[in-house]
Formats: sequence, C-alpha cells, structure tokens
Amino acid sequence: MQIGFRTRCYPRPKLAMILAQWTGCQRVVGNAKHDELNLLIWLRKRAILSPSWEGPDPQLDPFPLDQTFSQFKTDQTPWLSEVPAVILRNGVVRYKRGWSNHWKNPSHFRRPRRKKKADTNSVWLTRELFRFISPGLVEIGTAAHPVGVLPFVQHREIPQPASLVISRARYGHWFLSYASDCVQGPEMLADEARLQALAGQPDLEGKVQGIDRGVVLNAACSDGSTFAMEDDAKARFEWLEKRRRGYQRKAAWGKKGSRRRDKVLGKTARCSARIASIRDDFLRKTSSQIAKAAPEVTALEDLNLKGMTKRAKAKQDETGKWLRNGAAQKSGLNKALANAGLGNFRVYLEQALRKLGKMLILVPAHHSSQECSECGHTEAANRPDQETFLCQRCGHADNADLNAAKVIKKRGIALITSAGSADSARRVPKGRGAVRRIKGEQPSAASVKRETPSLTEPTWAA
Ligand SMILES: [Zn+2]
Repeated sequence: MQIGFRTRCYPRPKLAMILAQWTGCQRVVGNAKHDELNLLIWLRKRAILSPSWEGPDPQLDPFPLDQTFSQFKTDQTPWLSEVPAVILRNGVVRYKRGWSNHWKNPSHFRRPRRKKKADTNSVWLTRELFRFISPGLVEIGTAAHPVGVLPFVQHREIPQPASLVISRARYGHWFLSYASDCVQGPEMLADEARLQALAGQPDLEGKVQGIDRGVVLNAACSDGSTFAMEDDAKARFEWLEKRRRGYQRKAAWGKKGSRRRDKVLGKTARCSARIASIRDDFLRKTSSQIAKAAPEVTALEDLNLKGMTKRAKAKQDETGKWLRNGAAQKSGLNKALANAGLGNFRVYLEQALRKLGKMLILVPAHHSSQECSECGHTEAANRPDQETFLCQRCGHADNADLNAAKVIKKRGIALITSAGSADSARRVPKGRGAVRRIKGEQPSAASVKRETPSLTEPTWAA
C-alpha cells in the first residue's frame, strides 16, 4: 500500500528562490496546457457545427492532450528557458495526469483547473532532480547541475521514492511530500484471508475492539478507555479560531489585491495551519496510543462524512412560506464535526495499526448510538441525553459513547463471523486496503443528529 508523507523542509533563501521559480514555471506550463486544451475543444466544437468542415472527423479523437511544451517558450516567456526542461515537462505531465486521475475516479479527483499564483503552489520533481544524501538532507537539481541542499524533517527511514513534491504554503512554510510504500509491520496475510482465518477461531470477544468516534469524546473504546482533547489544547484551539475570525473580518473590509489585505490573509492562513497542527497532533498521539493497546482487530463505524457535513436544506410549508431550517445549528454542527477530524482519525489509526500488524475494519454505522449493547433493542428514547444510555427494554445503563463502542464491537464480530461463512464474498465486498466497506448501509442524518450535544430540535433531518 502506498502512503503519502509530508514533512516540513527549510530551503535557504537562494534555494527557496530557485524552487519558487520552478514552482511558478510548472504552474505557467500547466495553465498554458489548460488553455491550449480548452481552445482545441472549442475549435473542434465549432468544426463539428460548421457544414463546410472538411478535415478529419473531430469526434474520433475528442480529447487532444499531449505532452509537448516547447511551443510555450516564446519571446514573451524568456524565463521558461532558464529552468531545466525536465521541470517544464513535469508540469505538463502533471497536468495530463490530473485528467487521467479525474477520468479514473471523478468523485475523488476534480477536473484540473487553472492555478492562481496565490494558491498553494508546488513543484513536482522526478528522480533525476533529487538525491537523498544523508538523513534529513536532499540534494536538489540534476547530478550535473545541483542547485542546493534542502534540509527537511525526517521522521523515519525513507525508501527512495520515485518523485518528490515540494510545496510552499501561503503562510511561507515549505513542505516536502512523497508517496512511498507503507511501512509494513510483521508479515501479514491478505486482509480477506485474515478475516476468514479469524472467523474460525474461538474467543473473538478478546480479539476485537470497537471504537466510537464522536464530537465531545473524540474516541471511546469498548474496553472503557476514552480520549478527548486536553483542556489547554482546546483553549489554544479556540483562541486561534477567535483570532482567525478577527483576521477574516479585517480581510473582508480590505481592498482586493492590496498588500495590506494580502498580509492579513497570510495571517489567516497561518492561524488555520496552527489549528490544523493542534488537531493533527492530538489525532496522531491518540491513534498511536490506541493502536498499541488494541487487540488484533479494531472496528470503526463506516461514517458517511460527506453526507454528514452537508448544508441544511431550505424548508417551506404548504403555502410556500419559508420556515426555519436550523441552518445556524447545522453549520455549528458541521464545524464541530470538522474540528473533530473524524476522517483523519480513521486514516491515522489505520496507519498506526498496520505498523503493528493489526487491522482495521469498518462496520455499518446505522443507529449505533441508540442500540442497546446488551439486548440489541434500538429506540431513540434509549438516549435521554447526550451522555447517558438507558435501555427502555432491559434497563441497561451506560455511558452513551461506551455503549456505542460496544455495539460497534458486536458488529465487528458479526462481520468477521460472516467473513468465514460461505457467502462471504457477497457480504464482505472488496474495499480499499485493510478496510472492509459494507455498501448500502450508510448512516442517516437522523442517526447523526442524536450524537450532538446541545441541539434540542434539529430540523435538518429529512
Ligand atoms: Zn437493552
């Protein structure tokens, strides 16, 4: 499995200038390719419409995209000739790859767009343009013409990657990122085979744990341990958010394109980056702590995060009058969900588990917060409030998050047992990596809303 790594790097001013130049050239070439393509498509559209068209059938090759770039080196662009040709070629190849990624998986990769100078820009370096010379140092440039040595933060041993991406964020931080084979733990069977082998074993109870992800308690494990961000980290988090709001307000008053407004926007971006790093720090530490204590299999809910963080739908009554739809509450909830970093938590946890030779499975998430972990009774009234769970049938009482974690554990065990049975191929569809995904059973907005604390009457649920 390939995993992306991203670390800070610190180019000296001279190298930073060269990298900025390369970055800009790749952007220009990519944008030029984009314009060229659009022009071609437009011409072809006209050609199809025109009755006097006598050339080749434009529909036979409807998507003209090649990797030529020498046409962009003109009198107006002398600076393109100053960078190595490989940089320009990479810019074109990258743009083309953007399209092929898009066609392969349109829901994940958007269409390539024109890039602005103000976006986070990056330069893609292929193998001939860099060499790792010692831990934490990479030499940039061709072997014949090295342009400088780039120090970076090296957290682990790096198997030589085929390419590097060096990017500069708006707030002036440089990052080095690359994809590399995941550091595999002990030799492992394929996940499918592992699940099937587990299914036959006794004492699954001790080999599986469930984790409930939430907004108030960030993670609750079925063994009773819970994880939430510490108070001082939370306070810093909120302080930064407040500051960011202030900068955003200030930027809104500024004149577009002015230097002062740009400065304020830079400060905004910096706040965002600090917020993200506080969150990331917490999630990384939590997931490695959980992974160390985890049994062989860890089960998580398969949350439909995209669906959960949609905007509230507009609401009308029969006469067409607009009603309150709880948009403000919903956007507050969306923010809380985003702040909890549920998606990244799953990714980090999976990485941490794999490193130790353990595995992660995803189980259906529907009503996990309302189901009784003892008798299986499911009812909204089982949750009198955010914290408590009280079964209306058997009277089982527990912390709501811990109860949900136990329900998830039960579902995990059921999933493993079904993997061992004959029709497992149908019931355990193929997923990505270690993750098993059960299709068609996404959580409804209704099951999500009950996990939120302070909302009394959510009206966005359809
Ligand atoms: Zn019960």
